[in-house]
Amino acid sequence: MSRRILVVEDEPRIAALVCDNLEAEGYRTIHAADGPSGLREARAGGIDLILLDVMLPEMDGFEVCRALRREGVRTPILFLTARDLPHDRVQGLMAGGDDYLVKPFHLDELLARVHALLRRSDWAEAPAEGKIRIGRGWVDLVTREAQGGDGPVETLPAKEFGILKLLIEARGAVVSRNEILDRVWGGEAFPTPRTVDNFVVRLRRRFEEDPAAPRHILTVRGVGYRLK
Ligand code: CA
Repeated sequence: MSRRILVVEDEPRIAALVCDNLEAEGYRTIHAADGPSGLREARAGGIDLILLDVMLPEMDGFEVCRALRREGVRTPILFLTARDLPHDRVQGLMAGGDDYLVKPFHLDELLARVHALLRRSDWAEAPAEGKIRIGRGWVDLVTREAQGGDGPVETLPAKEFGILKLLIEARGAVVSRNEILDRVWGGEAFPTPRTVDNFVVRLRRRFEEDPAAPRHILTVRGVGYRLK
């Protein structure tokens, strides 16, 4: 059965272009032209992936995404937006989005990301709740809350959460520093791979019994990190 993709986009030409190309790839598409109707279609279920424009009439894409995640809808969401401010990337991630593509985009890149997100969601088990155990603690992928050991339950800072989410989604595969920089930092400032290492140190302090001898958030020398 072909996968169903909901395209929430108010610009008719972009919507038609995206839908036509997805259909040519064998996907079925449903189009919604504003926030509330996108929300309605997404709630109706049977959707495998949502392409969500940020600037939408009545209700913006971030609001639509937050509303869905609050209701426990875990359908993968790829944000499409004309804006490329670091703040927007972080906001999209925090709202519960899975990926982010800036307009104007190449159709090849859009299709590649669509394939990747659908593949990833095929692998992902759907836990009854969003909580995932890591070392001596846990993180909740829906609420972004985390607890390390006996420490307090707190909302993870956006960058730490972004890194952890990538590692979890990779399901044990190596995630390179460059991919982490690209997906979590995006076009922001000029972070170095060393920046990623510093955030990983913070994550280890939270979740590892012995942060100096990590057994869960592992370094793959010269490449990046993986989660065990
Ligand atoms: Ca728009």
